[in-house]
Amino acid sequence: MRMGDKGRRQKEEGRRTGGTESHPRVSAFCLLPSALVVIYHRLLKAYGPQGWWPGETPFEVAVGAILTQNTAWTNVEKAIAALRRAGALSFRGMRRLAERELAALIRPSGYYNQKAKKLLAFLDWLEASGGRAGSVRRALAGPIDEVRASLLAVHGVGPETADSILLYAGGRAVFVIDAYTRRALSRHGMPGAAAAPYEELRELFESSLPRDAALYNEFHALLVRLAKERCHKRAPRCSSCPLDQAAFTLNAEDAEVRRGRGGRQPGCFHD
Ligand code: SF4
Repeated sequence: MRMGDKGRRQKEEGRRTGGTESHPRVSAFCLLPSALVVIYHRLLKAYGPQGWWPGETPFEVAVGAILTQNTAWTNVEKAIAALRRAGALSFRGMRRLAERELAALIRPSGYYNQKAKKLLAFLDWLEASGGRAGSVRRALAGPIDEVRASLLAVHGVGPETADSILLYAGGRAVFVIDAYTRRALSRHGMPGAAAAPYEELRELFESSLPRDAALYNEFHALLVRLAKERCHKRAPRCSSCPLDQAAFTLNAEDAEVRRGRGGRQPGCFHD
């Protein structure tokens, strides 16, 4: 083979499958779409409906989605409580605040100066999108790809935040991918999930499951519950986990990995 043929072949493969040299498309990992359905039903049976997202209004949910970046939810709750006490948990209420006042109120959520800028940018977006007076739902209506692209252009709003806002504040059928989702997948048949591009994982869920916001809402919430109760980053508690004994992969290479780890629960790939 001539020099460069391999690289050209990989590039061609990437073009064909939509993947890249370093990140093949997730479908290449052979996680059965039906495996996601099995995972969902196991979790739902074990934990029941989660009733997410915590928040009284779409505006509060959207604010929470921004504040929860890089911090625990308990810290977000303190910031939300402070905003509520100050009457700033609405579009108009928050608009009245100077940036430094807003930053002081959300201090418990960490990175409060940056997050104040992000919240103000979100308010600008809401206003420009016709969502004035707290009508987040109205701002999130319309063709989903356009709304998502518009949200992603807002300062401080990445894919996970945008999709959390779309799903939980807007009721739009977009699957949220987070570190917990990646961890569960990487330990049950998709070893590359930890580093796979966000959009590929989102596409995997959305193409494998019915387009249903309520289903996406519940599934993501269940994955978070799983991570918090069982699938810890270090020392996962596999015994009695709803996904214990679950081998969801068809990938021959993964099966080899499992065989080489005799004594481990089938389907578990944690270190
Ligand atoms: S069986 Fe273990 S690795 Fe798998 S989801 Fe449960 S805790 Fe995580």
